[in-house]
Amino acid sequence: MATEELTHTPLAQGSIAELAQAMRGELIAPGDPGYDEARRIWNGVHDRHPALIARCAGVADVIRAVEFARSEELVVAVRGGAHSIPGFSTVDGGIVIDLSPMNAVRVDPEGRTALAQAGTTWSQFDHETQAFGLATTGGLVSSTGIAGFTLGGGIGWLMRKHGLTADNLLAADVVTADGRLVHASEQENQELFWGLRGGGGNFGIATSFEYRLHPVGPMVTAGPIFYPGDRAREILRFYRDWVAEAPDELTTLVNLLTAPPAPFLPEEWHGKPLVAIIGMHAGSIEEGERAMRPLRELGDPVADLIGPIPYVAMQSLIDPLWGPGAHSYFKAGWLGGLDDAAIDTLIRHRDTVTSPKSEIHVQHVGGAVARVPADATAFGERSAPFLLNVIASTFSADGYDDAVAWAQGLYGAMSPALTGGTYVNFLSAEGDERVRAAYGDKYERLVALKDEYDPTNLFRLNQNITPSA
Ligand SMILES: Cc1cc2nc3c(=O)[nH]c(=O)nc-3n(C[C@H](O)[C@H](O)[C@H](O)COP(=O)(O)OP(=O)(O)OC[C@H]3O[C@@H](n4cnc5c(N)ncnc54)[C@H](O)[C@@H]3O)c2cc1C
Repeated sequence: MATEELTHTPLAQGSIAELAQAMRGELIAPGDPGYDEARRIWNGVHDRHPALIARCAGVADVIRAVEFARSEELVVAVRGGAHSIPGFSTVDGGIVIDLSPMNAVRVDPEGRTALAQAGTTWSQFDHETQAFGLATTGGLVSSTGIAGFTLGGGIGWLMRKHGLTADNLLAADVVTADGRLVHASEQENQELFWGLRGGGGNFGIATSFEYRLHPVGPMVTAGPIFYPGDRAREILRFYRDWVAEAPDELTTLVNLLTAPPAPFLPEEWHGKPLVAIIGMHAGSIEEGERAMRPLRELGDPVADLIGPIPYVAMQSLIDPLWGPGAHSYFKAGWLGGLDDAAIDTLIRHRDTVTSPKSEIHVQHVGGAVARVPADATAFGERSAPFLLNVIASTFSADGYDDAVAWAQGLYGAMSPALTGGTYVNFLSAEGDERVRAAYGDKYERLVALKDEYDPTNLFRLNQNITPSA
């Protein structure tokens, strides 16, 4: 096994030893103990064999690894939480610059800010900030990394009240392709700061992020309510009309799924189609109960798990269903609306789903996300009311291609309702045209920024903004 992997690497043992010595963190090569563990990412589809994995202990290690990659002409994969759907955080024969050991978080409870290293996950971040009753918009699955998440935008349960994660970014430290450390904020390197808020990992390796925090919880009203799948039409129409009046505190999504064999669902429903509405209210428990009441008035749910819950528990509630190793593919885009025809299309395709792990999410956006001026950040789309994410997922490679074909078929059939734009963090590897579609008329401004910070495209394993040269 090690021999086959080593054929990927043209590196001299001497230069590897030099890099290992120059780093405070660990350098892992094929054949080393822990290599197979270290090369794994969340999405089981991407089984790749890097020539080196540089597990960085700090900024100095990141700079060293970047300089090494440049001098050895290695393809660079940057890793935070390893949740890249298209597998950009691993690479065959290149170097993975892995920031996951860098997970310190410093909270300023008075100033309501947090400074977090770029390898932090949402679980680690929420643990620190909730000690002070504070939070910022984070992910629905707590093992997701703050880095890729923030740089792409970041949608989560607090977004309608407090904006995207990127909207709460105050500053970032970034190691550039030429090995410099730069600080970006509204005061310094403003254009880079604009690009970091939605432009992904194109401009360098972020080593830390400073966020604005908000009082949240520690208890919130949140959770899912499940209805029989044959009520999907009624529930989706209700959902569309109900969220149109939703307060900013309430962020929700509707999910067409097959009931997993989970203890919170009655056994007779396991393996059957369900429609779930899941959400969180970021205000008082009483207001939350009131805001969620119409969901209950629909009557006869399969399971109703909405209620007071610690914010940190809500942030990890669906973790068990979203563990690493499954084969997953996302096909996502913004919806201009959800008319009856679109709802019928969703249901027709739900009925042909090929894998019990595949799901259809319609996420309600708007609120604070839509109030940030369109050109304030690089994030591509703020006015669409909904985001459609068709998730093709299988337990292994078996059935994966069918699941992907199903997701693509559904997405194609939804085109009359789609705006044509998409969210970079939910993009698969779909090529240049889709990246352009994600950014619309901001694309050229992003190219100018890429030309300035990474003209040779050292950082190209991402939703790539291609430099002009
Ligand atoms: C189970 C699951 C749940 C998710 N839930 C949500 C959700 O609720 N909301 C949402 O908005 N998105 C969600 N996503 C998508 C998620 O935002 C992206 O996959 C994001 O890229 C993950 O970041 P990461 O650091 O974990 O990933 P990684 O795989 O480590 O990184 C992904 C990419 O981000 C870039 N990157 C990472 N770290 C750095 C860095 N330090 N500097 C520069 N670039 C970097 C690189 O281009 C890298 O290829 C989810 C994904 C999964 C798999």
